Amino acid sequence: MATANASSRSGAATAVLTVEDLSVHYDTHAGPAKAADRVSFALQPGERLGLIGESGSGKTTVAMALMRLLRPPARIAGGKVTLDGRELLSLNEEDLRQARLRDIALVPQGAMSSLNPVMRVGDQIVDAIRAHSRGDNRNDISGRVAELLRSVGLDPAVAQRYPHELSGGMKQRAVMAISTCLAPKVIIADEPTSALDVVVQRQIMQTLGRLQDGLGAAVVLIGHDMGLIAQFSDTIGVMYAGKIVEIGPVRQIIEAPKHPYTRLLIDSIPGIKKKQKLRGIPGLPPRLVNLPECCSFHPRCPYAFGECKTVTPRQQEVAPDQRVACHLYPEHDRLPERPAATEVPA
Ligand code: SF4
Repeated sequence: MATANASSRSGAATAVLTVEDLSVHYDTHAGPAKAADRVSFALQPGERLGLIGESGSGKTTVAMALMRLLRPPARIAGGKVTLDGRELLSLNEEDLRQARLRDIALVPQGAMSSLNPVMRVGDQIVDAIRAHSRGDNRNDISGRVAELLRSVGLDPAVAQRYPHELSGGMKQRAVMAISTCLAPKVIIADEPTSALDVVVQRQIMQTLGRLQDGLGAAVVLIGHDMGLIAQFSDTIGVMYAGKIVEIGPVRQIIEAPKHPYTRLLIDSIPGIKKKQKLRGIPGLPPRLVNLPECCSFHPRCPYAFGECKTVTPRQQEVAPDQRVACHLYPEHDRLPERPAATEVPA
């Protein structure tokens, strides 16, 4: 399974993707905004890691860094990313172009803005294949386009359509066809169902799962919907203020979260069985240029105590394969009951 500590355990040796201490800063007049801060995990072929957190927690920044799509003022401030045995961060432009779609591919959020509005869908798939691979001829590619469209549940005739002629779900499927056109080993899916209704969301996630199974690819799924992430993933990594504050097997994270932020995220999912008060997370995510000292969650944490403001918590293993960065451990073996004072008034 995916591990938080990329350099430990046997997992790193066989991992298709290893991320070690990845840091990304955005240079601003007020100083560097630490959008990703020493993020580490390792992913085996066929594994599914869900990265979850509020907006601004660093999830998409990690995705963009893994795709080497960051642009100034963002810069990679440190760390190492190994993709199928190659150091990704030091690849030159040509090697990077070959690696994209073939080794690592992005399913972006916002399908409409990802597709070219003035090109037919089929031509966009052909473009992607030609731009990122060598030696394909037009006949082979045409057959491949039909096969790809079928693989995402679209009629091959969609190849002749323009993006504006497709529904939101069809556009997202077309984007997935492009992203998987060269059978990548790692798929980064950045909120692939945002702006879709729940029925289509489910269909898109099922299609992504089928594609991944067929390819044997590893997936990093990024989102802020805990239910959706939990249904899809083997492992969940919870991000706050650029850091992974907890990571572990999905069942353990959902049934026995250890980090207060994870607990609050889970508690904020509204239930539908009975009427109940909405439970939110008090306060707002911090400004990344001016993070609170030490544990950056302490101003919002109902469990905070003195040490949280003076010592930065380090990740530690608190259960098999479950790691957390919080001073409540190892003294506690589980997270205490959530104080009622954190409830949002109805
Ligand atoms: Fe809360 Fe302290 Fe743990 Fe941070 S280290 S999450 S403030 S208890």
